[in-house]
This record gives sequence, structure tokens and C-alpha cells, in this order.
Amino acid sequence: MKAVMLSEPGRIEVIEAPDERDPGLGEVRLRIEACSVCGSDLEGLHGQHPKMTFPRVMGHEVASVVDAVGAGVSNLTVGDRVAGTGHRACGSCAVCRSHRFAECANPGGPGFTAHGAYAEYMTVIAQDLVPIPESLTDDEAAVAQPVCIANHAVSGRARVEVGETVLIQGCGPIGLSAMMLAKLKGARVISTDTVDYRLQRATELGADLAINTSKEDVFSPIRDLTGGAGADKVIECVGGDQDDTLREAVEAVRSSGLVVVVGSFAANRATIPIIDFKFSEKSIIGSQGMPEGYPPVFDLMADGTLDVKPLITHRVPLDQAPRALDLMDRKAEEVMKVVLQPQT
Ligand SMILES: [Zn+2]
Ligand SMILES: [Zn+2]
Repeated sequence: MKAVMLSEPGRIEVIEAPDERDPGLGEVRLRIEACSVCGSDLEGLHGQHPKMTFPRVMGHEVASVVDAVGAGVSNLTVGDRVAGTGHRACGSCAVCRSHRFAECANPGGPGFTAHGAYAEYMTVIAQDLVPIPESLTDDEAAVAQPVCIANHAVSGRARVEVGETVLIQGCGPIGLSAMMLAKLKGARVISTDTVDYRLQRATELGADLAINTSKEDVFSPIRDLTGGAGADKVIECVGGDQDDTLREAVEAVRSSGLVVVVGSFAANRATIPIIDFKFSEKSIIGSQGMPEGYPPVFDLMADGTLDVKPLITHRVPLDQAPRALDLMDRKAEEVMKVVLQPQT
């Protein structure tokens, strides 16, 4: 089968990979219909992802069709449309050697520590796969994964409520998803970024205010909107090789306000205005992954309450993955989300 292999940081190529094996106990083989390219794939490409091992077939934002079902799988049948990656059995632990793959002692995360969905097929443990609502396309279902990350930040961690003023830093796919979800909660949202077309997209999708922090002051508009108090909550969706956004978040949030960090940072330390932070009893908490899973997001998407289609700017065949990563790296062609389509 065709796959896209990142043999080491910086070296990515389309290869003819061995076919995926038939699913064993508790496993299914998936035919990948759509896999969107994530910012963390770019970190992987540059060798900056803290968890990714090499060589690696990346890809974790997936919509697929069940192609074959192993013994002991009762929740899925051939032809079912599913989202998510599940986990991959390691194939070499004692449990796997006795072919009880679903109980693998050392399962890998597809796209990071095991081969992922930049490929035509993928054999995984069936357990964590989620049915895709009929009304959603494969592309939308793939892109739902980062929306679930944003949902955890907005609902699970920030607990955004009606009437609050929320600053969301970053207008990438997660930042824009967080903005839309916070709007659905009834908040007033200020979005920031340094790239004009992304701010434009934020405004089109409902942000009350969009500020280019490389050109404009962020603090006075927030003070104007909040009677001088500051934002009730700040959700950091930038990360990367900088920590200015954390300093800005702590400054922009009101006394006793909350900063939620979603962005993935390259370095393991950051500087914040610690005196103001302490005296004003501000809080910073982290947000990781998507423990609420797909259902709350699929519920919003299935009836059109949340529309993620505007986040999808490019749809390309699998063998254009290297070009897609390059596009995203350069933020060229007004790219937001690129969806790879391995079956075209
Ligand atoms: Zn991702
Ligand atoms: Zn194993």
C-alpha cells in the first residue's frame, strides 16, 4: 500500500509500504478515507515533537471505513464509518505474541509512537473508534479531532460561561475552533494572531474582535470592552518557539482570572509577570488531549450548530503530503486545514 514515511526529521517521502496485516483479536483494519494534517505533524517533521519516534508514518486526525474485523470485535462491522485512531498493538510483547492484540501491554499511539494514517490502511485496536454521524463528510469527521482538543479547553478546562469575555490567542484550527465553541457558550470573544488572513477568518466565523498583535496593542481594546477589568479567561492556542503569548495572557486576564494553556511549546520553560500574577490571584492551568472524546463535538456538528467546513482549505491526494506540510510550514495559499485523501 501507499504510505508517507518520515524516515527522520526533515526526510519525508511517499513509499510503497507492506500491506497492513489482517486484524487479530480485538482489532480492525481501517481503510483511511481522510486524514487532516496537524500542526504537531509539522513539529514532527522538524524533529521538535516531544513524543514522536522515527521512522514514522504520521497522521492522527482520521476518518475511515472498517475494512476487516478481527475476532472478538462486537461494536463494529465491515463498512462502518469511524473516527479516531485507536491504538496499535506493539506485536512483540508477550500478550501480542499469543495473538491477544487488544490486550497489548505496550500499545502505540498512531502517528506518534506507532504508524498512523498517512497511508491507505491501518490495523488498530477497535476499542476507541467512534461512529461518524451520517450527516458528516469524511473530511469534516477528520477535522473534528482538533475541534475535540479545543472543546476540552473551552468546556472541560476554561468552563466558559455565557456573558464572559474570553481572549483566544491564535487563529489556527484549534484557536478558531475554540473561538466558535466559546461563542456557542455565549461568551464575547477576542481573537489574536500575527497573520492577517487568519484574523480575517476569525472575524468571518464570529469573533467579536480580531487583533493582529504584531501591529496593534491588545490590552487597551480588552480594557475598553471590560470596563478596565481585563478578560475573564484567556485560552492560549499558539505555543511553538516563543513564550510571549503566556506573558500577554497573564497580563490580559483580570484579577482572579484564568489562563488555559493548549498550545504546544518547544521549550519546557516560560516567563510570566509573576508579581502581578501573585498579587492579583490569577491562575494558569494546562489543557491536554480530548478526554471528553468525539461525542460532544459530533453532536454539535451533526445538526449544523458547529460548522467546521470553513476550516478546510485544501483537499489533496495522499502523495501530496510533503507539499501539504510545506504549505502549512510557510502558511502559504491562506492554508488552514489540509485534508489528505488516500483513496483518490
Ligand atoms: Zn493533532
Ligand atoms: Zn503488544
